[in-house]
Amino acid sequence: MNRFHHTLSFLFMLLIANLSLASKKDSLRIVKDISISWESKFSAEEKSRVERILYSLGYHAQASLGKLPFPLKFYCRQKEMSQPLGGCVAKFGGPKRGVQVGFDMRYTDEQFIESWKIHHEISHLHLPWLEKKHEWFYEGFATYMSRQIMLDMGLFTKESLDKLNRKRIDEIRDSFDRDGTFLEVVTYHQDQWNFSEYYWGGSTYFYRANRALEKKYDTNLKEIISKYQQRGRQTDKTLNDVLRSWDNILGKKLFTSLMHKYKTESARQVMADV
Ligand SMILES: [Zn+2]
Repeated sequence: MNRFHHTLSFLFMLLIANLSLASKKDSLRIVKDISISWESKFSAEEKSRVERILYSLGYHAQASLGKLPFPLKFYCRQKEMSQPLGGCVAKFGGPKRGVQVGFDMRYTDEQFIESWKIHHEISHLHLPWLEKKHEWFYEGFATYMSRQIMLDMGLFTKESLDKLNRKRIDEIRDSFDRDGTFLEVVTYHQDQWNFSEYYWGGSTYFYRANRALEKKYDTNLKEIISKYQQRGRQTDKTLNDVLRSWDNILGKKLFTSLMHKYKTESARQVMADV
């Protein structure tokens, strides 16, 4: 067994220690399908650190949001930055499908794990590629779902996460106090590159959907997204396809009806209902 497999089996034993037998098989499938490509020079020690972090984050993201219907590959580059992680991008196709991550190895493992960036990029892959005009939707999705993964990892409590979601949404309320439907206003912010406005504005869709799922249907968004990986993720092409697939999984028209509100109700009304 080489060093890499040592790291892997050690990690895996830690990860599955508390799981049932069925989940152990699922966990093994998830971990076996994670791999790393070194796009710049890393020492053996640095590689061990990055492997530990990425196998853990790749595992936890898929334990929360479902196993992706394809292997998860990370493309790692090392560079000095003013922050632990940079140049983080999810790619949906081509020879480098997966997640690109830039590491500044001067930062600690905890700083890499506590940053939302890798959780965010893996979340993106749980949706198919969608047109740029729907950016508010897929960035809102990754903004919301990355924190759900972090909640499951114990990086938030339910209370601290709810507080963060409320705070960030409250901070952008004034920007949605404008004439127009929610879709018109969020698209305006998207065109102006007002990132907080359309990332957190978009996240309200998922915040509201999850609240309805928990209250009325005894399920949650993570369960729907997990099932979706085998029931639409590989075949859906458009935003409408995605919403219809989620409705089919739930057996109710929750996601298409909520989108209808976002398209037809005023921005003020939609934000008042968050
Ligand atoms: Zn993103």
